[in-house]
Amino acid sequence: MRTITIKPKAITHNLNQVKQRAPQAKVLAMVKSNAYGHGVAAVLPALQQADGIGVATLTEALEARQLGWEKTIGLVEGAFSADEWQQAIDHDISCVIHHGPQLEWALQNFPPAGSATNVVWLKYNTGMNRLGFNAEGVLSAAKRLHEAGYQLILATHFANADDHDHPLNAMQIERFSSVLATLKDTISLDIKGSLCNSAGIVNFPEYHYDWVRPGIILYGSSPVVDKSAQELDLQPAMEFSAQIMALQTVSANDAIGYGSRWRAQQDTRTALVSVGYGDGYPRVISDDAYVTVIDTNDNQSYRCPVIGRVAMDMIVIDVSKTPESLALDSKVMLWGDAPRVDEVAGHAGTISYELLCRLSIRPNRTQA
Ligand SMILES: *Cc1c(COP(=O)(O)O)cnc(C)c1O
Repeated sequence: MRTITIKPKAITHNLNQVKQRAPQAKVLAMVKSNAYGHGVAAVLPALQQADGIGVATLTEALEARQLGWEKTIGLVEGAFSADEWQQAIDHDISCVIHHGPQLEWALQNFPPAGSATNVVWLKYNTGMNRLGFNAEGVLSAAKRLHEAGYQLILATHFANADDHDHPLNAMQIERFSSVLATLKDTISLDIKGSLCNSAGIVNFPEYHYDWVRPGIILYGSSPVVDKSAQELDLQPAMEFSAQIMALQTVSANDAIGYGSRWRAQQDTRTALVSVGYGDGYPRVISDDAYVTVIDTNDNQSYRCPVIGRVAMDMIVIDVSKTPESLALDSKVMLWGDAPRVDEVAGHAGTISYELLCRLSIRPNRTQA
């Protein structure tokens, strides 16, 4: 049995942390990539106090509408074709406009009065150098969109907000605030701004502008390099667990698993755990990786190192520190309260985002 348990209360708690940090701003809660792997259907009810949700694809937007989400949906990569633009209009979706063709679709096909598609997020490339217009392009697009009757939100995305002192942050903030001021001066005071992802919300409280766009922070993972999720008072929204499926003792000098990568220094009690990379537990993991075993007999928790190579369906852990009577069906927490997914990501040389998004369909899904 491998289980992913989603905790809607933790998501609501984390959303409230965002709202406390950004009391003046509206919140576009990011639920792209199936709500960072948590399952959008499980997550939406916990986000009722958000002002809108953000997704990357039209399919994700339509799924959220089908699930009954009635407030704003921001499509952060915008329409991929004139046909997608029309579908956005049909379902009241607010699109990013980041290049010339999207601008033309919007100018040629204006949504009916009252449609949320009347609000467009005009993307300014302030230094990330992926999507967006340069300063000159933003000014001319903004003028045309405003004249056509659109309401505008100037938007940009940080490249290094997780690292407070990275020099590009100040540069992006300066470019953004200066172009926003020009748009307000020359076009309309009603033009809004949106700059901050989770890391920006934490690191740049004076630059929250009108809309913040939290993602990873809602799921209880730290968005910044210098503070842990615990220090930020975030609760993990996912617990990923499995079960002990066999207990063994290996003798000194015995090797375990594929490639015989781990060799016992002394006689060692081991447990096989029913989870592997086929479920989304990372195959490449350092020797510091550990899990928490909760002994079914007495509910005590034990920190146990992962040893040997992670396989598709199982891992092996060292249970030397647990009682001899350790129950066969004991629960094994891969991430959740301990270890946090941020720690596992560190041991796997990646970020929590990737571990969360790449979980497979095999684990059972439930809610607590
Ligand atoms: C994904 C995304 C976010 C959220 O980023 P986090 O680092 O998860 O907070 C914000 N804005 C845009 C445009 C995004 O694509």
